[in-house]
Amino acid sequence: MISKLSLSILAALMATSGAVEAKQPEFAANHCKAAETNAQHYRNFPAALTEAKARHAKLKNANQAQAKPGSGDLVSDGTTPDALAITDNPTFIIPVVFHVYGTVQNGDTVNDAVIIDALNKTNEDFQGRTADFADIDPEFENVKDALNIEFRLASIDPNGNPTSGIIYHPESSGAGNYSSSDVKRDHWDNYKYMNVYIQNDLYADGVTNNSGVAWYPDSGMSDEGLARVAYNGAYLGTNTDENFRSVLTHEFGHFLDLIHTFEGGCKRGFERRCAITGDENCDTPQQNSWQMNPGDGGILNCMGQTINWQNFMAYSDQYANFTQDQVDRMQNGLNSGARVTLWSASNLAATGVAN
Ligand SMILES: [Zn+2]
Repeated sequence: MISKLSLSILAALMATSGAVEAKQPEFAANHCKAAETNAQHYRNFPAALTEAKARHAKLKNANQAQAKPGSGDLVSDGTTPDALAITDNPTFIIPVVFHVYGTVQNGDTVNDAVIIDALNKTNEDFQGRTADFADIDPEFENVKDALNIEFRLASIDPNGNPTSGIIYHPESSGAGNYSSSDVKRDHWDNYKYMNVYIQNDLYADGVTNNSGVAWYPDSGMSDEGLARVAYNGAYLGTNTDENFRSVLTHEFGHFLDLIHTFEGGCKRGFERRCAITGDENCDTPQQNSWQMNPGDGGILNCMGQTINWQNFMAYSDQYANFTQDQVDRMQNGLNSGARVTLWSASNLAATGVAN
């Protein structure tokens, strides 16, 4: 999805770290491919688009009901913008399996420790337990939100045997391509496990600085074993800088139905139709484009509004937050047919991640 953002960020990195020169230039224009990838999916499979529309209609109806006085809170489990307390009993627990293809990617090591650390930090991002979340741009203090979710490595495999939840395979490429043979062969039941594929060359095109790609919930993909996040091991946790490792969080956001905040650009006419245009969330201001580095004058959109430049679904040099509408949308996604079985009590027991 994303590759490195801009020359200015690279320059900043080079000023503070000697580590980047060993890698390919990270500002190559290999931008996030989630938008194109999912649009292509809807063109190829009209049933997937129908399913997505039904899912989003459900969210819209719930929001309208929520807006009526006395209707109660039908969607969100609370809109308090505070960080979530560390809890042993999150609302959503998701069993995850990592499939790793090659333990050295762009010269970086991919092992259990790196993956466990990366997953822990993504959980902290979702739960709002980071310093950046606490110290966010004040304009978004009342909009930021956290999701009480925890992604846990599976400890029971599909055959009922113990597992670390991290499976190593020979080096390979192309897990970001829709019909990847690795994905078809190696996936675990998509209704029981969230499958994450770690490869260095995501599209088997010789480019090793694409960071990741993911598909929105779709039961057709889950039926075929194709639901996934595909991610570059060179950008896992401590293999990259503290900001860029949150691109894993960004990909998990896509997996839970989030669209880029810069989708569709900025148009005045879209403001009143914010629920069905752009990223389909009304509390994330439109963005002129994916380029929006604070300090470069790009922080205001075509309406003169401050954009949520720290949003996990943007390309940010300081990732910090989701918004309340995004959290509602992720909860709606979690309740869709393609995701709802993942966190059922019976499945948490079957995959060994129950409390
Ligand atoms: Zn993306």
